[in-house]
Amino acid sequence: MADERTFVIVGASLAGAKAAETLRAEGFTGRIVLIGEETERPYERPPLSKGYLQGDEDARGKAFVHPETWYAEHDVDLRLATRVTRVDPAAHTVTLDGVDELHYDKLLLTTGSRVRTLDVPGADLTGVRYLRTVDESDALLAHLRAAAHVVVVGAGWIGLETAAAARKHGATVTVVELAGLPLQRVLGDEVATVFADLHRANGVDFRFGASVAEFRGIEGTLTGVVLADGTELPADVAVVGIGVQPNTELAVDAGLEVDNGIVVDAALRTSDPDIYAAGDVANLEHPGLRRRVRVEHWANALNGGKVVAKSLLGGPDGAVVYDRVPYFFSDQYDLGMEYSGLAEPGGYDRVVFRGGTSVPDGFVAFWVKDGRVLAGMNVNIWDVTDDIQALVRAGWEGTTVDLDRLADPKVPLGELLG
Ligand SMILES: Cc1cc2nc3c(=O)[nH]c(=O)nc-3n(C[C@H](O)[C@H](O)[C@H](O)COP(=O)(O)OP(=O)(O)OC[C@H]3O[C@@H](n4cnc5c(N)ncnc54)[C@H](O)[C@@H]3O)c2cc1C
Repeated sequence: MADERTFVIVGASLAGAKAAETLRAEGFTGRIVLIGEETERPYERPPLSKGYLQGDEDARGKAFVHPETWYAEHDVDLRLATRVTRVDPAAHTVTLDGVDELHYDKLLLTTGSRVRTLDVPGADLTGVRYLRTVDESDALLAHLRAAAHVVVVGAGWIGLETAAAARKHGATVTVVELAGLPLQRVLGDEVATVFADLHRANGVDFRFGASVAEFRGIEGTLTGVVLADGTELPADVAVVGIGVQPNTELAVDAGLEVDNGIVVDAALRTSDPDIYAAGDVANLEHPGLRRRVRVEHWANALNGGKVVAKSLLGGPDGAVVYDRVPYFFSDQYDLGMEYSGLAEPGGYDRVVFRGGTSVPDGFVAFWVKDGRVLAGMNVNIWDVTDDIQALVRAGWEGTTVDLDRLADPKVPLGELLG
């Protein structure tokens, strides 16, 4: 018998596209409508601040989640340049661009997040830029190719990757950061220092404990960035990378439970039985961490999209559980890294380095609490993610490891759990 159901996915993103793919792979034959306000079909964002921004011509084609023909071939009704303006849970409808209504049986929200903006005088000058979309990456690349002086506001992942790209294009680069080190809140002082040293070695000038008071320009075009202490940094381009916020407005208006993202259970179900959420926008009750967590990373969109499709297809309670170890990666200059787990400021008592801190030689850093591994980051050492994630999972269960052996590169990671 034909499946008459319609599944609507709002957010033609990595999570949304992976959910559509998985629905078909799992045999769903009903209607799938994938709606996105951007004009490009779903793509992955990590290259936008890395190879793509450095001018790698092939990176654009590789960023798409599926070939152009895939959507028609898999009978996925992809509606681009279309914004969902309302969700009505009682009527089971979404409104498109304030006009057309579309019925759903099940609804998936993969609306992701958007950049936080800096509201200071001069914020609308040409040359003040943000980086979230492929269009913004295109525009920034064109600008970086011609820029002599680049100021990056915010020393998070996007800011640092952009700084590395700008150095590659030959500009002077100053990074302005409120904290005392780059990535300090994510990595803590011990590992953040590695990134500060790396960028300094590549010619980046940091201004820590600093904030932007004003963007200054002539005839509408940026010429400088004025800091709170009055210092003016010359700038042709200022890239603001001060974090993102989840796109929760639709969910709020629909009366769903929202608290730092759309609140979902371990099966990625919202407070409405027919509405689900995944990716950056979802605040998950994580079974391993035993608390809520909202992850703003590529792997969470990829895997969350796959898992939520299974949840949409139903099954008994507990049949679908999303319990992945949080994971992300970054590339800057000659440093490639992967991070698995979650260690937050004040949540760990020790950082254990395995094999020193030399970037060219590679090392692994572990964040540890009472002998339990909370997170691990491998730098220029590969194929260790499974072992690190096994340590993190063991830590969730309360298993401790011998810290001397953890620090000893001669002891294989796979032997630490005995
Ligand atoms: C430049 C850059 C580099 C990154 N690099 C890394 C990295 O190296 N490693 C890593 O782990 N992560 C990285 N990330 C983060 C990663 O890309 C995100 O976690 C991921 O994109 C989240 O995917 P998502 O599917 O949840 O949502 P998003 O990618 O945010 O997509 C959501 C989509 O929904 C659309 N949308 C929102 N509301 C509506 C609406 N009402 N109607 C229609 N459409 C709507 C949005 O326009 C958007 O297209 C990077 C992000 C950026 C921006």
